[in-house]
Amino acid sequence: MRILVFNAGSSSLKFGVFDVAPAAPLEHTRQIFKGAFDRFGADGCDASLGTDTPARSRAPHTSLADAIAAVPPVLAEHGVEGLDAIGHRIAHGGAEFDRATRLDDAILERISALTPLAPLHNPANLEGVAQARAAWPELPQWGVFDTAFHLTNPARATTYAVPEAWRDAGLRRYGFHGTSHKYVARRAAEALGTDPRDLRLISLHLGNGASACAINRGQSIDSSMGMTPLEGLVMGTRPGDIDPGAFGFLQRELGLDIDTIEAALNSDSGLKALTGSSDMRDVEGRAAEGDARAQAAINLYAYRARKYIGAYAAAMGGLDALVFTGGIGENSASMRRRICDGLEFIGLKLDHDRNMGLALSGRACPQIQAYGARVQVLVTETAEQLMIAHEVAAAHLAPPAHAPSIPVAVSARHVHLSQDAVEALFGPGYQLTPDKPLRQPGNWAAAERVTLEGPKGRIERVAILGPTRPRTQIEVSRTDSFALGVDAPVRQSGELDGTPQIRLIGPAGHLDTDGLIVAARHIHLNPADAAAMGLEDRQFVDVHLTHSARALSFAHVLVRVQPNAFTEMHIDTDEANAAGITAGTEGEIAPELEVTELKGKPAE
Ligand code: ADP
Repeated sequence: MRILVFNAGSSSLKFGVFDVAPAAPLEHTRQIFKGAFDRFGADGCDASLGTDTPARSRAPHTSLADAIAAVPPVLAEHGVEGLDAIGHRIAHGGAEFDRATRLDDAILERISALTPLAPLHNPANLEGVAQARAAWPELPQWGVFDTAFHLTNPARATTYAVPEAWRDAGLRRYGFHGTSHKYVARRAAEALGTDPRDLRLISLHLGNGASACAINRGQSIDSSMGMTPLEGLVMGTRPGDIDPGAFGFLQRELGLDIDTIEAALNSDSGLKALTGSSDMRDVEGRAAEGDARAQAAINLYAYRARKYIGAYAAAMGGLDALVFTGGIGENSASMRRRICDGLEFIGLKLDHDRNMGLALSGRACPQIQAYGARVQVLVTETAEQLMIAHEVAAAHLAPPAHAPSIPVAVSARHVHLSQDAVEALFGPGYQLTPDKPLRQPGNWAAAERVTLEGPKGRIERVAILGPTRPRTQIEVSRTDSFALGVDAPVRQSGELDGTPQIRLIGPAGHLDTDGLIVAARHIHLNPADAAAMGLEDRQFVDVHLTHSARALSFAHVLVRVQPNAFTEMHIDTDEANAAGITAGTEGEIAPELEVTELKGKPAE
């Protein structure tokens, strides 16, 4: 397949054309055209166009739109034709885009809504998409997201320990350079002849931006960039890790406002702040001439990277391979050496001659560890455009079946009480106090709590959900039923005949009642969403939780269509823990493949 890839920025457009066989190793992918228009200005821009050694010139384009419009004639002039699809690099895909995604109006709107997360990058990426759609209306356009590879990171890696309201507003770690890390990890595994699932690997992308990524058995589990690309390693113009307490200090002591601080963190920090130059070649040159500031900056740069290697080896419980990439990782033997020095204790040691004599070309991925060292160290050129082309080709050839996705909510243990039960527990004539509204309209959590008591033990402070119902129902997890010492059956809500007895204890008395169940997983849908997803009331479906670290498929999930329902799937805490899900997890719905014996006969 022939794929045109665009990386559109506010001041530059990079593009490439690739012939891809998605199943073949990455090194077999052929790049048949390379192009860049850089530094748009009133008098045009720099151009670099061609194949192996692109020719440099000036071009008249003053904007991204002009530059993209110029691509079709440039390709025609170089005899490049027969494009099958276009792939776009998109900086931020938020928590939802975890793979190459076909770009239509609805998807573009969703990407656009993510702009607050990447105000410097997503708008230019999206403008690139709009221009490319206008120039090639007949070709499918795909987005590949820099954040996507890291969506497998577990919550412990993505969560900032900050107030809940901030996290609800979207404050979390995402990680970037995902396409690069994915490429080099896959390329390194190919070069080692090892299945990625057998490797604990750290990828160090050291370019103008820099990040480290822990890739455990093929999956990214942590990345040094956070909510924005500012966190982590020291970079050309960004500081990497910095105490958030600094911002208050800067405001109070230097009178700086947040825009000024942010601009300085993006553009005037890192190597540039430490040495006056953001370019590692300059910094290394000055250090060699005895410049103490440059020497100190190099030390700091290497020290930060080394710390991350130690941290990620700890996160993965060991390390099998380290891969260097990016302009500095690929070209600076002395920086590779400084970063690796002192890591012998984890079995990482470079071979001096291999490191110094390294000559990279094409897709080569040579090894530079000392003979006998336990950790393999590799160096390879990153190839983000090539990886984008691969992802697009794979997605284009085997478009995933349309699988509607649905938010997943975790139901902790709770009870629904009849009015008689309320009075038995809280006193005659007592009315429950609505405290917090639930997402299902009309439902709320009461301010009151009850205690459950079984033959084995008690569970205290169990939530009561209102309003009252004709029949009392107590929903616990399988684990809870062991704690209580009562074997609760898996039932759909309301199917209470023959359910076991349990004692409820309130401030005014106790009540022995049946109605103890482990709630069967189910999906609430309003009629509009049900119609959009092609689902019907009482249908059973399978739901795949692909985004979570412990990806899991739930079979035999009941669909319940009710007017005004808030569309979401409900699972209990045991199921959520088994699937390793976090807030915001979505499941993909697939029609149940075979009607299992379970239907109509819950596993009790
Ligand atoms: P970007 O992140 O913009 O794609 P690159 O991956 O090209 O950037 O990396 C640019 C960085 O690589 C610059 O700091 C540059 O000085 C550095 N670099 C390139 N070649 C060398 C070299 N031979 N020695 C040291 N640093 C180098």
